[in-house]
Amino acid sequence: MLHQKLFFKDLLDHSSGKSRLSQKIEAKMMPRLLQIINQDDPVDSVSISASLRLNDQLNPSIYGEIKTDLSLRCQRCLGPLEWNETIEYSIDFIRQSDTQASQENMDCISISDEGIVLLDLLEDEILTSIPMSIMHKNIELCENIDKLSMFLGSSDEKTANKNKPFSDLSEIMGKDGN
Ligand SMILES: [Zn+2]
Repeated sequence: MLHQKLFFKDLLDHSSGKSRLSQKIEAKMMPRLLQIINQDDPVDSVSISASLRLNDQLNPSIYGEIKTDLSLRCQRCLGPLEWNETIEYSIDFIRQSDTQASQENMDCISISDEGIVLLDLLEDEILTSIPMSIMHKNIELCENIDKLSMFLGSSDEKTANKNKPFSDLSEIMGKDGN
């Protein structure tokens, strides 16, 4: 149902029948999302639960949860960053020809004769939920911190402390070599 093209009548039928579904979707099925995520990680997926029902205006609507298991790219260090989020969504549909009703409720998605693909809509929900500049919570979690702190203009003292374990290590290695 998620991948099929649905027309307004199909949405109406599914909503009248109170269709429910629960499905795990691989991220590679969502081309726009694929451009954002860290594509080296093949296990990226989202789990979608969806219920269709008629709303108060007897128009179709869909609601549910999207659980993401995605590897995004940290905007500070460009390293992988697990993004596990639960996105709640609720979308009302309306027939495009029904102009009067669409003026009353701007939150509706109007369905033209072209129909829609539900997965495209849910992909929109995911894309709008991803923070614009997603980063590791703490700079210590970032990759290549030493290189980064140079960019960020950290004090020499901090850099010196960071480098110390490595100088200790090279001393030890030097002794082992002898
Ligand atoms: Zn980072």
